[in-house]
Amino acid sequence: RVLNAMHRAAPNIYEGPLHAMTATIFRDLNLLANSSGQVAIYVANGHGAWEAANANLFSRGDRALVLATGNFGHSWANSVRRMGVEVDLLDFGRQSPPDPARIAAALRADPDHRIKAVLLTQVDTASSVKADVAEVRAILDAARHPALLAVDCIASLGCEPFEMDAWGVDVMVAASQKGLMMPPGLGFVWFSDRAARVCAGSDLCTPYWDWQPRADGPEFWQYFCGTAPTHHLFGLREALDMILKDEGLPNVLARHARLAAMVWTAVEVWGRGGDIALNVADQAARAPSVTSVRIGGGGAGRLRSWCEANAGVTLGIPLGMAEPGAATYGDYLRIGHMGHVNAHMVMGVLGVIEAGMQSLGIPHGSGALDAAAATMAGR
Ligand SMILES: *Cc1c(COP(=O)(O)O)cnc(C)c1O
Repeated sequence: RVLNAMHRAAPNIYEGPLHAMTATIFRDLNLLANSSGQVAIYVANGHGAWEAANANLFSRGDRALVLATGNFGHSWANSVRRMGVEVDLLDFGRQSPPDPARIAAALRADPDHRIKAVLLTQVDTASSVKADVAEVRAILDAARHPALLAVDCIASLGCEPFEMDAWGVDVMVAASQKGLMMPPGLGFVWFSDRAARVCAGSDLCTPYWDWQPRADGPEFWQYFCGTAPTHHLFGLREALDMILKDEGLPNVLARHARLAAMVWTAVEVWGRGGDIALNVADQAARAPSVTSVRIGGGGAGRLRSWCEANAGVTLGIPLGMAEPGAATYGDYLRIGHMGHVNAHMVMGVLGVIEAGMQSLGIPHGSGALDAAAATMAGR
């Protein structure tokens, strides 16, 4: 549906239906994020959305507190550091959510309130660790620290509940190609009225990245600082209809929770008969959109190759769980279950992995598919 919506002749960009449709997109992006603030759309992937947020949030020499639970947290820290911002990095490893005590201590160690913003990744796609966004807001409030809270929801928006207003989030970034079910190419930055006020005049901000004209024009071209990404906008309109109108956001989130539970159940059963485990032991800290799995002895790497070659199923690479070339690089894979995905796709992927383990002689517990089916059936 999304691709079909994009497959059309170039529209009039000066007036008419494109302008009317774009207004509904801004409205619905706020519905999706439960936000009463503003949102800016960029022709960019997630890395571009990070830099858009950074440019508006910070001036040179400002300080950021980054909470990292995997590769993406570290990458956001790198991008903001490269732009001239001082970074305090709290590294929580790659298997656990942020530790409230360490965040509180870092805020206490900043009595002069030099930290301008706390950067948090809701779901780190590399580790599949999920963070509790509302908890981080509560820690900031308890410390009476005025830092802005900025959250990366690139791998969680449309998959996991997110409440921009209720959780006191000031800035949120997302991109088109994950939960939003589109091709890559659009990045989004939501920002609260407080963020708009506090960040006005940030000296890293250049005309192209400035979020204000992108959010409120008033000329149509200003929303995109130039030509609109017309075909992506048609695709986005369709994706938002699928999520908000046809399936409904609560049902979309429930589907992700159910599909994730099927994957977790299967991996747990496999682990009863082999060196196989979910990367995140604590269920409350597992992402509903992606699952990182360890299969020892290089089994994960061999399995990825087998699934690709024999079934056209592409499993995710380790991505920061181990360095390329390291002995353990072949021990991790990731199963994606976000966005345009349903029960028969997930059962299919689990079935292909099961077949791969049988073919490769990777020891594993039996009955994983039965268990996943029982989870789907609610038994
Ligand atoms: C995918 C992803 C990114 C990077 O997005 P790109 O479009 O690949 O640049 C950043 N953060 C998270 C959490 C992601 O999942």
